[in-house]
Amino acid sequence: MASIDEVVAGEILPAKEAISMLDQVDLGPTIDIPEIPPEADPDSTPLEERERMKKEIMRLKTERNAIVLSHNYVQSDIQDVSDAVGDSLFLAREGAKSDADVLCEPSVLFMNQILAAMKKPHQTVLAPDLGAVCSLAAHADPERIREWKANHPRGLVISYVNTYLDVKAESDYCCASANAAMVLEHVLTHSDPDQPILFLPDVFLGFFAAKFIEKSGHPLDRLWLMLGACHVHEAIRPHHVNEQMRLHPEAAVVVHPECGCTSACMRQVTTGLVPEDLLQFRSTQGMVKLVREVPQETIIVATEVGNLYPMSKAAPEKTLVPASREALCAFMKQNTLQNLYISLRDMVHEVEADPDLAERAKVPIERMISIG
Ligand code: SF4
Repeated sequence: MASIDEVVAGEILPAKEAISMLDQVDLGPTIDIPEIPPEADPDSTPLEERERMKKEIMRLKTERNAIVLSHNYVQSDIQDVSDAVGDSLFLAREGAKSDADVLCEPSVLFMNQILAAMKKPHQTVLAPDLGAVCSLAAHADPERIREWKANHPRGLVISYVNTYLDVKAESDYCCASANAAMVLEHVLTHSDPDQPILFLPDVFLGFFAAKFIEKSGHPLDRLWLMLGACHVHEAIRPHHVNEQMRLHPEAAVVVHPECGCTSACMRQVTTGLVPEDLLQFRSTQGMVKLVREVPQETIIVATEVGNLYPMSKAAPEKTLVPASREALCAFMKQNTLQNLYISLRDMVHEVEADPDLAERAKVPIERMISIG
């Protein structure tokens, strides 16, 4: 067993070891977190100016035969001028089926890369800001995966959607939080029981995968995990959720499985401390669906706070309480109405995929898009 002092973020370990170290390893970001620009707050720009830019964006979309695909975490003004708003899986599917000439995607680079790898020859992929990267994707080093594959020649690699193309190119399957269980189920059904499986890079979602594998009656010994985490979700700890549950005892709770509170919340459910229907785990898009389905008036939401906007649009009558108001992704907030407008106006910040990587990454991406 690896010594806890030697283990660093991004390492690959047998699942049991990785899970035993969950709360002890420093999973902090390995890249700099940018400042959130003032324009990320719509109220920092006069209303007239915002309306003018929104009109211009709508005009440019028609002129360029462009669509805007926005992630749930980007600011509300951008969501309002978008053709589709959703999580990474939804946006990948929307991009893949579109014939528009321009796919402009306010999100982060790993999502833009998916569009660039899957695009049709006549299409151009634009990003409002090329500095919008991701702390979770930064934990996944393709060299470590190649080493693991060399040591496990029959191994299967499932990479989470939050990875760059060079990591996807080393993967057999790709999944998002919305279809992680379905992809795992598929892999378990279509592999030999002794084939090792590497799930990466999010160790909290990996914990979720481990529980799924155990529940399916498969030995946990075949699972390996990478010690990666998103700095935004990892920082949502059990005390945040517990405090909001104390303040809102009547509320339902919904947790994104990337959160640092995932294992503790799951224990509360499995030990019967909290009923299963009161504390649920959902993907980004699954939360938007759930808000309409639960009978409770108040819902405590453990994820990036941007997701509260599409949730509130889905169920305006509900009260949504963020588990942590600090849960803001500075990378997603690099997308502003201003740089979206400039990107469409000047056709700048084109995202291109290396042809070789794109060819190899397409296989796991297509599997992700088609499963679930
Ligand atoms: S919220 Fe986390 S996983 Fe999502 S883009 Fe931001 S840093 Fe990456």
